[in-house]
Amino acid sequence: MRRKIAAANWKMNLRIEQGEALLEGLLSKNIELKPHQHAVFAVPFPYLTMARDKVAGRANYAVAAQNCSHKESGAYTGEVSAEMLQSVNIPFVVLGHSERREYFNESNEMLARKTDLVLSKGMTPVFCCGEALSIREAGMQNTHVEQQLKESLFHLDATQISKLVIAYEPIWAIGTGKTASSEQAQEMHQHIRNVLSARFGPEVANGISILYGGSVKGSNASELFSQPDVDGGLVGGASLQVEDFAQIIMALK
Ligand code: PEP
Repeated sequence: MRRKIAAANWKMNLRIEQGEALLEGLLSKNIELKPHQHAVFAVPFPYLTMARDKVAGRANYAVAAQNCSHKESGAYTGEVSAEMLQSVNIPFVVLGHSERREYFNESNEMLARKTDLVLSKGMTPVFCCGEALSIREAGMQNTHVEQQLKESLFHLDATQISKLVIAYEPIWAIGTGKTASSEQAQEMHQHIRNVLSARFGPEVANGISILYGGSVKGSNASELFSQPDVDGGLVGGASLQVEDFAQIIMALK
């Protein structure tokens, strides 16, 4: 069975004591996860070890970094390498979030290098893709997402791609309160799986978890997650609220 994942993306929010309280509030709910279900917290770099220690010993609760450098090591002031994340036992790294693509000029080619580095250190990339509103309005969303996948991931082999989690996040739905309908999400997730299947084969494609991101809330998670190709969510705003994110975790199928 594919992994079903509720992934919180805290972005650049919260002081550490607020982050601690948020995690403690959630963990105190003792939401039990089935073996195929996972709750992942993508927290800012300075909070990674705090969050790692808080979820330690809680089955299927884990921590993610929100980014890492496309450079391996060296004189790159301010960067954080994949190896540094590995050295503090961080299992997941979010790559290519649309905010990084837009504000920090991350290209498909750069994301191919980040993906390689994260995989080479034995961690799981959560690879984000998705289209802007203008692209959807032009009816080009499938081609656009396909190109993101091709240019960043098609150089991988089947074993490598099997380790990835993909997050489809239509930019027009991120932080806007506008959620893609469950039909729109399913349509794109199926397209992504077909694209992966054509390159890596159906068995590999069927094993890859594809998360939906874009204004997921406690109130719409269950409907979105009930779509056959939607394997959970990457959640921004609602992941900063204990009750909302708890509901999202409990909506995992
Ligand atoms: C995100 O940060 O990836 C995201 C989807 O944000 P929001 O849930 O706030 O739309």
